[in-house]
Amino acid sequence: MYLKLLDPPMVHIKSKPSIFEDVYDAVSRCTSTVVFAKSGGLFDSDENKQEHAFQKAIDRINTNRNILPRVTLIPQIEGQILGDSFRANKKGEQKRLCNILRKGVAAVFGPQSSSAARHIQSICDTMEIPHLETRRYKMNRGSCLVNLFPHPQALSEAYVSVVKAFNWKNFAIIYEDIDDLLHLQGLIGEHQMKPSFITCLNPEMTDYRPLLKKMKNMGYSQIVIDCSAEKTLTVLKQAQQLGMTGSYHSYLLTSLDIHTLNLDDFKYGGANFTAFKLINSQRSEFKKILQDLDNATTIKTETALMYDAVYLFAKALHDLDTTQQIDINPINCNSTTNTFSHGFSLINYMKVIEIEGLSGIIKFDNQGFRTNIQFDVISLREDGIKTIGKWNSSVGLNFTRPYMETYTEIVESLQNRHFIITTILNAPYFMRKSSSEKLIGNDQFEGYVVDLTKEISRILGFNYSFRLVPDGRYGSLNRVTNEWDGTIGELLEQRTDLVIADLTITYEREQAVDFTMPFMNLGISVLYRKPIKHPPNLFSFLSPLSFDVWLYMATAYLGVSLLLFILARFSPYEWENPHPCKRDSDILENQFSLINSLWFVIGTLMQQGSDIVPKALSTRIVAGTWWFFTLIMISSYTANLAAFLTVERMESPITSADDLAKQSTIKYGVVRGGSTAAFFRDSNISTYQRMWTVMEMTRPTVFTESNQEGVERVIRGRGNFAFLMESTTIEYVTERNCELTQIGSMLDNKGYGIATPPSK
Ligand code: GLU
Repeated sequence: MYLKLLDPPMVHIKSKPSIFEDVYDAVSRCTSTVVFAKSGGLFDSDENKQEHAFQKAIDRINTNRNILPRVTLIPQIEGQILGDSFRANKKGEQKRLCNILRKGVAAVFGPQSSSAARHIQSICDTMEIPHLETRRYKMNRGSCLVNLFPHPQALSEAYVSVVKAFNWKNFAIIYEDIDDLLHLQGLIGEHQMKPSFITCLNPEMTDYRPLLKKMKNMGYSQIVIDCSAEKTLTVLKQAQQLGMTGSYHSYLLTSLDIHTLNLDDFKYGGANFTAFKLINSQRSEFKKILQDLDNATTIKTETALMYDAVYLFAKALHDLDTTQQIDINPINCNSTTNTFSHGFSLINYMKVIEIEGLSGIIKFDNQGFRTNIQFDVISLREDGIKTIGKWNSSVGLNFTRPYMETYTEIVESLQNRHFIITTILNAPYFMRKSSSEKLIGNDQFEGYVVDLTKEISRILGFNYSFRLVPDGRYGSLNRVTNEWDGTIGELLEQRTDLVIADLTITYEREQAVDFTMPFMNLGISVLYRKPIKHPPNLFSFLSPLSFDVWLYMATAYLGVSLLLFILARFSPYEWENPHPCKRDSDILENQFSLINSLWFVIGTLMQQGSDIVPKALSTRIVAGTWWFFTLIMISSYTANLAAFLTVERMESPITSADDLAKQSTIKYGVVRGGSTAAFFRDSNISTYQRMWTVMEMTRPTVFTESNQEGVERVIRGRGNFAFLMESTTIEYVTERNCELTQIGSMLDNKGYGIATPPSK
């Protein structure tokens, strides 16, 4: 399309196309400088709409004399001039274009085809003619080009902000044109969320199913599609045939024309489709323009941009016209000195003015790229395409939907849906019910998980059926293949909707799937057998006092006996006449012979007394002191003995996980593929690293297939096997089995959560 400025008389007389009658009327009404426009192009059906918008914009400008009071624009379509210059004869195209230039062209609009546009752009650059484009930026950029399409940098930032907001970590990109990678550079270069898979759609390709199937098998559910709106629809339809538009799939569609597509077939599938819309349909003028454009219900972005481009040009022309006389002279392609003298002035005017168009505020930065871009973030809902937020080049992404609305929508979407809930057999969370009758379905099971699920489903109104994880594992990442097994693998491969089990929330799992808030808190501890009760020892009566005490007592006994014996020898009061009737007998006897002293002291120690009694003050003092001593000793012994007899002294060889690490007699293990195993495998603490190495090297293996197997091994091991297990399960097991006990405190702190597929 071209805008050509001619002297009024020339145009006025020349062929008057009937479709522009009103414009020509306007021209005839004009008294001062009149500007006429001619446009030419080879349009496909899509570009017809642009051509139409181009004409309508000119009509509106011409009828509204406030915009261009002294100028009238006349469009003329030169059908054969432009096209795909690779297919058409390049020389012929050039000749035709030069014919138009020779008549005096003020600006060139379009075309859309990239090879033709490149060709036109180079001619415009040489002739200094403003070239207005409305298509996506490609690699090259001419000095006379004014492109109304958002710059790749802005688009790239918008894509990144959505992907970040959705927290996509493992997504794929499908693109159509290598030049468009410029728009995706933010997504490709962003290290934290690099796409794991990027693929290009071959232009000859019509069947994208093999490619989509490959992506499905690789587990991609978050996909960026960077194609034209029409091709996006084709890809989505084929994805739907492969079951890739369900609840667990999310698409970011980068085409700015998604709002023009009929996505009714995808509304109820559950997939999340997010896209951007540049057109500001809230503008009051928008409806009038739609009426102008044959009562269209909506328009493509490039069509709206063409409309805006004409307005921008008209405004620049007006501003220039008020400052200077514009002379439009014919341009000869063969002369390099023959250029449009007002070309650069017009371009500069276009780049400094600011207008509000169908695509929002039209304003350019100092590099000539559009700034202040605002996109509506749109999403497909059951009631059609809805705006869920806004993206602005200065503020960034802002979701505008109220929290309650989103919440209600989620809750409503869960009603009456049927979920497959994967779980794992482990008492008390999920157990088979013992019954004399044959049970089927969910009735076969009981436990904490069953009760929890029942309650949640009652609140949210969904139906469910339980399914046991086929490999019986909780879920661990194979570092070599980068694949998850167990319940996490089931979720990622979309074989289940939820995992409700004693599934621990770990950092590694959080990267792969989503978790709810924890519903139970726990930590790793040691399950071990209680020390075994031995029959009492023959000499256990000695236990209340230590050997030393016994030794000191024996020494004290002998010492006191000897002291008594000696004191009694010295004291005259201890010497007595053995025959009191013979008063003058010379024979005196001492009752504290060595034997008697020993007997007296032992008798009092045993609290029995004897018929020997001290008479002298000295012996009485010694005896009294000894009695007091025996009083204390006997009381202590009796008290200790009572305690020894009632409390069974059982000592465990280990008191903590550290003790386990320090010894080699007691073997220890964990559940294979569980979070406890992962804790030891990934720990940075040297004790736990050593324990992991020991566990790996121990034969036969100390990794069990279930907690139950671990518990049985602890019982069977009779003190030679300890099991590292989660405190909640240990508590349950030790309450039911008195032989078992928890050793030490918790090694870490974590929680169980409900796992859901990765967020869309
Ligand atoms: N709850 C653990 C998990 O989610 C399994 C048991 C364990 O590792 O001790 O992996």
